[in-house]
Amino acid sequence: TGLLVVFADDHNTSHNPPGISNTAGTGKKKVIVLGTGWGGMSFLKNLDSTLYDVRVVSPRNYFVFTPLLPSVTSGSVEARSIVEPIRRIIRSKGKHVQFHEAECIKIDAAKKVVICKDVSKVRPKGKEEFALQYDYLVVAVGATTNTFGTKGVREYCHFLKEVYDAEKIKESIQNCFESASLPHLNKEDRQKLLSFVVVGGGPTGVEFAAELHDLIYDDLLNLYPHLHNDVKITLVQSGDHILNTYDERISKYAEQKFTREGIHVKTGCRVLGVQDGAIDFKIKSSGQLVNLPYGMIVWSTGIGTRPVVSDFMNQIGQSDRRVLATDEWLRIKNCHGTFGIGDCASIEQRRIVEDVSYLFKLADKSNSGSLTIEEFVEVMEQVRQRYPQIDIYMERQHMRGVLGLLADAVKDGNRGSMQLDIENFKQAISKVDSQMKSMPATAQVAAQQGEYLAHCFNHMAAEVHDNIAPEGPMRIRGKGRHRFQPFQYRHLGQFAPLGGEKAAYELPGDWVSIGRSTQWLWYSVYASKQVSWRTRTLVVFDWTKKMFFGRDSSR
Ligand code: FAD
Ligand code: MG
Ligand code: MG
Ligand code: MG
Ligand code: MG
Repeated sequence: TGLLVVFADDHNTSHNPPGISNTAGTGKKKVIVLGTGWGGMSFLKNLDSTLYDVRVVSPRNYFVFTPLLPSVTSGSVEARSIVEPIRRIIRSKGKHVQFHEAECIKIDAAKKVVICKDVSKVRPKGKEEFALQYDYLVVAVGATTNTFGTKGVREYCHFLKEVYDAEKIKESIQNCFESASLPHLNKEDRQKLLSFVVVGGGPTGVEFAAELHDLIYDDLLNLYPHLHNDVKITLVQSGDHILNTYDERISKYAEQKFTREGIHVKTGCRVLGVQDGAIDFKIKSSGQLVNLPYGMIVWSTGIGTRPVVSDFMNQIGQSDRRVLATDEWLRIKNCHGTFGIGDCASIEQRRIVEDVSYLFKLADKSNSGSLTIEEFVEVMEQVRQRYPQIDIYMERQHMRGVLGLLADAVKDGNRGSMQLDIENFKQAISKVDSQMKSMPATAQVAAQQGEYLAHCFNHMAAEVHDNIAPEGPMRIRGKGRHRFQPFQYRHLGQFAPLGGEKAAYELPGDWVSIGRSTQWLWYSVYASKQVSWRTRTLVVFDWTKKMFFGRDSSR
């Protein structure tokens, strides 16, 4: 293209093939960060920006605290309380970090250039696009909502992803109640307008349904008492249970609570299409077709790929995927100098079994061709450090530990003897491999990845400039990519707010808490996680206001 390439050369990058290796550059490396969500924000906050020339590109100049988005739909929290201007976040970083409000429309991996577009309405004609050059690129653009190609979803459904989505939903609920109050409507019209449908029984769909229920029954029906018998909330889920990534106790509790409160939970349903004012779905078990009229519908199922990411994946031979594949150091595969964090990327975990002979040799200190249980336990500790996915497996499966499982597996195949040969060892390892899950698309993962990557960047630059091994939380071992520990996810548990001042919380290690006190825990955790004292104050103020005066349901 004939685009002006800015942010270009104070040193010639082509002589300095980038990558994570030491390249003794003369000037600072140029880092471009795409996205100002959980991943991008966390990277920026933790980066020592004096070491790099940093440009941040995002079509929105603020960070959104997404866990509180469902609360915005009901007016429990104001929209402006959960956003933090990105310029405020980077202000302390001085001139080393610059922000450009624009959308990246193309990543040119061969030229190491990103092409960006001014998406504002005031942009000068003929100057919509510009290009930026990078040495390192951090892709943190998040994901879109997946419609699975279902007809009518884009036209008629609300999504719940951005602040303006939440505000539109809030307004739409208002519209339904006002319309339903008009004098010329009959009962059928009213019931249609006040039929609220949520598609997707994951954490976001469930939390939204709970917020909607509380808004209607705690607040709106006091203002519209004549509509009491016409309201209906339906939650449509394709799986057999709602919250099916949570502990069974939470999932059951949520289903029972919703059913008791009159939320219609329809599990095991396949949505066939959405029309203006009605949704068609099929109950999988009976094959029965249902046509359900709605006044408002929210679609919240799974994550999809942004076009700029799909195009990038095509360039680098990752075309058959939904998200970018990275290695355990978050480096995008087949593309030097680029990193992927958060919802737009996932770590392609190497199967442990590929290293089985190496591990076996490592464990077999006596060189006897078989392992004692002690040797086995010892090597598994190293495996745990080298293959971080094992820890997730342990948390997800609520197991005492992988060690227990493996010891069992070994006993089964090798009863009577306390030794295991390489075949037993391989068997045990493949059992772990087969259970491996990828990391969830959550703020928790994105934020930890951003922080981890920033620490790697801080170390990389310090090594280049000072030629010393820096101090800090990152353990450095050996050379090349093995200098850094691979990214290790620390699962801190997950909340599921269920409405009525009740929440569920699940901690790693088979620990579950449900109820009113858990809701208070939720309040305090989410207040403490705010990115600034400004938003923290606003959020706590909103909650206090809600407790005294109810939700602010006005438009
Ligand atoms: P995002 O935070 O989505 O950020 C993406 C950024 O990239 C945005 O700034 C966007 O404007 C920008 N961008 C988009 N396109 C481009 C482009 N072409 N060029 C440049 N920039 C671009 N997770 C939890 O752990 N706990 C929760 O309670 C929780 N609740 C949630 C509730 C809701 C309603 C939603 C929608 C999500 C929730 N999540 C929660 C998930 C969490 O928000 C995501 O996993 C997280 O935001 C992922 O971070 P990210 O940086 O990858 O993407
Ligand atoms: Mg981001
Ligand atoms: Mg975000
Ligand atoms: Mg996202
Ligand atoms: Mg991811």
